[in-house]
Amino acid sequence: MSSHLDQILAPQLAERRAAHLYRTRKTLQSPQAPEVIVDGKKYLAFCSNDYLGLANHPDVIAALMEAAKKLGVGSGASHLVAGHSREHHALEEELAAFTGRERALLFSTGYMANMGAITALVGQGDAVFEDRLNHASLLDAGLLSGARFQRFLHNDLTNLQTRLEKTEAARKLIVVDGVFSMDGDCAPLPQLAELAQKNNAWLMVDDAHGFGCLGTTGAGSAEHFGLTQTQLPILMGTLGKAAGSFGAFIAGSETLIETLIQFARPYIYTTAMPPAVAAATRASLRLIQAEHWRREHLQKLITHFRQGARQLGLQLMESFSPIQPIVIGSETKTLAIADKLAARGILIIAIRPPTVPVGSSRLRITFSAQHSIAQVDQLLEAMSDVMGELSNE
Ligand SMILES: *Cc1c(COP(=O)(O)O)cnc(C)c1O
Repeated sequence: MSSHLDQILAPQLAERRAAHLYRTRKTLQSPQAPEVIVDGKKYLAFCSNDYLGLANHPDVIAALMEAAKKLGVGSGASHLVAGHSREHHALEEELAAFTGRERALLFSTGYMANMGAITALVGQGDAVFEDRLNHASLLDAGLLSGARFQRFLHNDLTNLQTRLEKTEAARKLIVVDGVFSMDGDCAPLPQLAELAQKNNAWLMVDDAHGFGCLGTTGAGSAEHFGLTQTQLPILMGTLGKAAGSFGAFIAGSETLIETLIQFARPYIYTTAMPPAVAAATRASLRLIQAEHWRREHLQKLITHFRQGARQLGLQLMESFSPIQPIVIGSETKTLAIADKLAARGILIIAIRPPTVPVGSSRLRITFSAQHSIAQVDQLLEAMSDVMGELSNE
């Protein structure tokens, strides 16, 4: 006999399965790279966020190993207790310098950085305005904060302006993704910064997908648009994507960072990341800044893919980032295409609701500086075959 718990939970799972929304995990048996081994089979993969190909870079691996030998593995405590190592500290100073901010603060994950910053900055009596396509962690943080939570239409400045005019909230926080994680397009940051200043609102940007990829030196969306700390006071970036490592940071003024150290609960009540991980990130920061070719090659791949996809009549999005989704619509068709691509040795993940709005299931194709033009051609050929096969079914 199954327990009361299982009896309640099982129908919910069955419902999700019937709706073609059931999630499963693939087990990776190789490092993150263009070619991966999943469940014993080799695939050409276009589904990692390792945009610059640093997750398996020898310098990054060496930095991790050396630091582990010197400092051990576990940090042993939270940052405020006794877990703040010199590697964490050096990384924070380097992140601040890189992003052109007074200070930076490390968090264990991007999810926690967003949770920590938003709940520390606004609460009851305040208002938070979020783009409706913001990452789940930003939406969750907005809800948890207790501030009046408003979602505005995607990249719609007029809709946001109207909402800002109506509010009587004490503090007003505008939050957007710098590069939207499932669409790959950018937020209109210069206009948002202006709108924020005019309305005495604070602008926060989650640059999980811009950091490392955008800007001349890879410092991200703020560098790309030339936005100073005054114009964009709360800058969040993650280190598990283009940086190829793990963790996240918030960069901004001395006062902002001290406020987060005092009041951001997901900062205070968690174990600091292993110092060796911070050391690995420091090595990857050096590569991000020194190796321009990674960003240049990535742009070549993106342009090449977009030209080829257009010729195949595929529906592209307004994206110049390494995120190049192809919206299919229905969950079943998106899954069918992903399955057919997998049968041809190409790994792409079908992204379905609630990660994206209902009716906009998509293949989220992502590129890495490690991919070659020939591999993009392989992808385009496979897409062409699969689309042809589907139209004959
Ligand atoms: C991945 C992601 C996060 C979460 O970062 P983690 O370090 O993976 O927790 C936050 N925001 C956006 C936009 C992301 O894509």
